[in-house]
Amino acid sequence: MTIEIDHITKTFGTFRALDDVSLDLPRGELVALLGPSGCGKTTLGRLIVRLEIPSSGSIFYRDSPDLASLPENQFLPYRRKIQMIFQDPFSSLNPRMTVEGIVGEALTIHKLFSGHEKWARVGYLLNAVGLQPAHAERFPHEFSGGQRQRISIARALAVEPEVIIADEPVSSLDVSIQAQIINLLQELQAELGISFIFISHDLAVVGHISHRVAVMYLGRLVEMGTRDHIFQESLHPYTRALLSAVPTPDHGTRKKRIILEGDVPSPIDPPPGCPFHPRCPRRFEPCVRLIPLLKDMGKGHTVACHLYDQNKG
Ligand code: ATP
Repeated sequence: MTIEIDHITKTFGTFRALDDVSLDLPRGELVALLGPSGCGKTTLGRLIVRLEIPSSGSIFYRDSPDLASLPENQFLPYRRKIQMIFQDPFSSLNPRMTVEGIVGEALTIHKLFSGHEKWARVGYLLNAVGLQPAHAERFPHEFSGGQRQRISIARALAVEPEVIIADEPVSSLDVSIQAQIINLLQELQAELGISFIFISHDLAVVGHISHRVAVMYLGRLVEMGTRDHIFQESLHPYTRALLSAVPTPDHGTRKKRIILEGDVPSPIDPPPGCPFHPRCPRRFEPCVRLIPLLKDMGKGHTVACHLYDQNKG
């Protein structure tokens, strides 16, 4: 595994944003994180790159020590290997730095290249993300949204990461250029073998680019499996409702759309038992009292739902 997340919990005061989440990122794969707004996807990404520290649990990168408890001064080598691309390329780039400065900064921090070699590397990176190296002296405001996201990607790639956390990397961009950026990420993923955690609300994009999908609800992981398991044979009633809006590719027909009652409950006052039970069309007696644990349904497909309590795992 490239990243192993082990029983992570994150609280902000009394509020539990993540509750006992475990997730593996296999080498060279793209794992998509799905789930309603506020379920903790961004928080999980921020924990992996250490913009937040978990309240409990561990995070491992390859055979590293537990990154969650590693002192800051020992974290620098791992920071280079795990990069994040943010949703908004307008606020994530320093407006007072040139592109050359932005992309080259990490090379200096990590002492990778200097002098002429550094500028050659910046030119190479800009070229790799489809920007003109001749524009390296320009400032972020001189570029369009899509071009700025390309600059963010070049900055992330500069230090040769093995893992990229992409947090809704195209949702702030015009629809017409979203596909270009998705294609670029997919090419880089395949060519460089980078492992991705890809946070998105766009089911069509997730269905197109992911190897595995993890579905979250109110701070907990509720289902995980290969893309085909999740898109074609999902088990959890939340996943089924979420994906019921997606047309099946083989017939072009729509599955029966499942409309859920009510809204996602407040995470400040989560329901007892299964976090999904108040809206679940299939709830039964244990759901209101017991939190379902993730059960292994075979072939790496796991689900946290009492409907499957009788299965192995
Ligand atoms: P979205 O899809 O809308 O981006 P998300 O699934 O990424 O949502 P998070 O951004 O991880 O959700 O937020 C999870 C919960 O944690 C939210 O209720 C959010 O308000 C809360 N939260 C996140 N960061 C903090 C913080 N620093 N302090 C307090 N609460 C926070």
